[in-house]
Amino acid sequence: MKKTALISDFDGTISKEDFFNMAIERLLTPDDLQPWQDYLDKKITHYQALDGIFSKIHISQKALDAFIDSIEIDDKFPDALKLCKKFMIPVYICSAGMDYYIFKKIAHYIKEYNITVISNAGKYSRELGFKLSPPDKNDIFYDKNTGISKEAVVKYLKELGFFTVYAGDGIPDIKAAKIADAVFAKGALLDFCKKAGIKTFKFDGFADICRAVLSGVL
Ligand SMILES: [Mg+2]
Repeated sequence: MKKTALISDFDGTISKEDFFNMAIERLLTPDDLQPWQDYLDKKITHYQALDGIFSKIHISQKALDAFIDSIEIDDKFPDALKLCKKFMIPVYICSAGMDYYIFKKIAHYIKEYNITVISNAGKYSRELGFKLSPPDKNDIFYDKNTGISKEAVVKYLKELGFFTVYAGDGIPDIKAAKIADAVFAKGALLDFCKKAGIKTFKFDGFADICRAVLSGVL
């Protein structure tokens, strides 16, 4: 029997609301969002748009820490991690956002459960805001648009012989969900999967993943 690996998106999947949306609502002005329009107009890449928008955040380190602390995490995410550890299911978090707020918010889980985080590197200073760096172009998980390729992460784990379980909620999760062995989808990803005829598990939150692990489905 194949060993299982869990690959999860972070924003809107592990967290309840995207960092991007939280920042727009609470830290940025409409003028700061021009890079997103440039991305939609195909003038710049996805990660360049995020880099441009997040570089407009100029709050104190203390205020930023408090802001990141206010990110809400799925209540059952810790339980899912415990179960994955028990059943020796490695956990990967892949995010087309940046690693900065993931590490700040769930550092203790990453360490305790040996989670692999694959994302763009983010650095912050009050003067310059965030600076995003994608992986090196030769990195196996590099993608020229989003910086990291979630699809490449799933492909890599499949090649290692894992039964890949993907959890996500958005458009950037589509390519990964298409090739994963099992999919937990909500939001825009669920809408896509329904249209594309991709079978998905019910996914209102990590409680559903806990149930699936316990019932031996995964
Ligand atoms: Mg998401």
